[in-house]
Amino acid sequence: MTTTTTHTDALIVADASALEHADRVIAGLGLPAAGTAVSDPATGEQIGFIEDGDVDGALRAVATADAAGRDWARTTPRQRADVLHAWHALLVEHTQDLAHLISREMGKPLAEARGEVKYGSDFVRWYAEEAVRPAGNYREAPDGGATILTRRAPVGLAVLITPWNFPLAMATRKIAPAIAAGCAAVVKPATLTPLTTIYAVQLALQAGVPADLVQVVTPKSSSAFSEAVLRDPRVRKVSFTGSTEVGRTLMQLASDNVLRSSMELGGNAPFLVFDDADLERAIDGAVAAKLRNGGQSCIAANRYYVQDGIADAFVEGVAERLSQAAVGAGLGTGTVVGPLIDDRAVRQMRALTDDAVAHGAELRAGGTELGDGTGHFFAPTVLDRVPEASDIAGTEIFGPIMAIQRFGTEAEAIERANATEFGLAGYVFSESLDRALNVADRLETGILGINQAVPSNAAAPFGGVKQSGLGREGSAEGLEEYQSVRFYNIARR
Ligand code: NAD
Repeated sequence: MTTTTTHTDALIVADASALEHADRVIAGLGLPAAGTAVSDPATGEQIGFIEDGDVDGALRAVATADAAGRDWARTTPRQRADVLHAWHALLVEHTQDLAHLISREMGKPLAEARGEVKYGSDFVRWYAEEAVRPAGNYREAPDGGATILTRRAPVGLAVLITPWNFPLAMATRKIAPAIAAGCAAVVKPATLTPLTTIYAVQLALQAGVPADLVQVVTPKSSSAFSEAVLRDPRVRKVSFTGSTEVGRTLMQLASDNVLRSSMELGGNAPFLVFDDADLERAIDGAVAAKLRNGGQSCIAANRYYVQDGIADAFVEGVAERLSQAAVGAGLGTGTVVGPLIDDRAVRQMRALTDDAVAHGAELRAGGTELGDGTGHFFAPTVLDRVPEASDIAGTEIFGPIMAIQRFGTEAEAIERANATEFGLAGYVFSESLDRALNVADRLETGILGINQAVPSNAAAPFGGVKQSGLGREGSAEGLEEYQSVRFYNIARR
């Protein structure tokens, strides 16, 4: 029998004490009194302003950071590590402040925001530890005529552009390896969520990062900013996290200056559940991979492929769980799913749901906007038997909709999972290690969760294949993105 469960619970509102805490943190940032407004997505309320920067200001930031970077490139690995350790300690000490700020400007539940502070600060500690292990090697030329030493040098001034969905972690994942490698940085946070990055960089300066080395800019026009800055000869590197569409534009601009480029772009993650999966484990994983950050994550499970034998029980389980997930302000007690980032995202959820149902998908939970429209809420939604022809089957959803399709054979699941231009994350749930590994080997993604729905870790090389991007963040590979390899050929007689 097909049942539809609808969200009827009232939205959870923010706790007064949590709001006060967040607003005290914002008051301490020293923001301008006017400029571009930053809003709370749970209420639409303006919570602060950022400066409307122009191109001249951005180029001054480039000049200042470039000059500071020349001195920083000559510091010792231990000096860089000490500063990063101090920054890590301050981020941890200010976990509550940062988490309240993240929840207020981005909307995620406070518990998840604390998780982001842990995750984001882990990158700073990781690169404090990596900074003192500079890689290099030595080889003999085959004819015996030379000794070859390879060394790594800082790549130079880096432009770092981040998205709104993880305002702390996306910044630290770039700034920390840049500092560890000996580079200066000009950081452009997302216009929707700049405050957390501003606060985190203020903590970096307190920790001993030289005042001019990391410049945060808030240009009014992102495109005017990138057109000017990426063509500036002092810039040697661009690292971007965001949509594939903007990433393509930045790669074109970067080509003028032949910039080292790291691109963490869009995803369309398949989540495969086989008949031999542990049902409860698969349901827990499916819910986590969808509801984390309200589905607004580049590695959020996007297309659920469930094998015929387990599908009915799986759909029943996830529909029950999603219809019970409490929705409300991130700063409210008990919130599991926060608001979407803006009204456009709510309209997108509405359109994707309507289109899928019009194509024959079965609505099993949610499917409705919630609240009076001042906040940006959409109910956690389950759509079963989603036809391939519907928009949602080929779109990065970026919201709390679980789109489920069914499959018969392993070969069919792999073929459908790979039928996308994206290749960031993929998930396999099966109690057969042999099957899970064989399927994982054949999925065209950079990140594989095997009976695991939350695969990110500072020690792991995060990044995609195909149109999900170039380069890796986190791990030793993440440091190499900010280094140039050089060799010395030493003549031998
Ligand atoms: P977005 O591409 O709209 O914006 C990302 C950043 O780029 C923001 O700071 C924005 O202000 C800036 N920007 C936009 N146009 C620009 C331009 N012409 N020049 C310079 N900067 C410009 O993406 P978003 O909506 O903030 O984030 C959502 C997207 O990011 C999704 O596609 C998601 O998959 C992706 N994402 C990827 C990863 C990853 O690691 N692969 C992580 C998080 C988000």
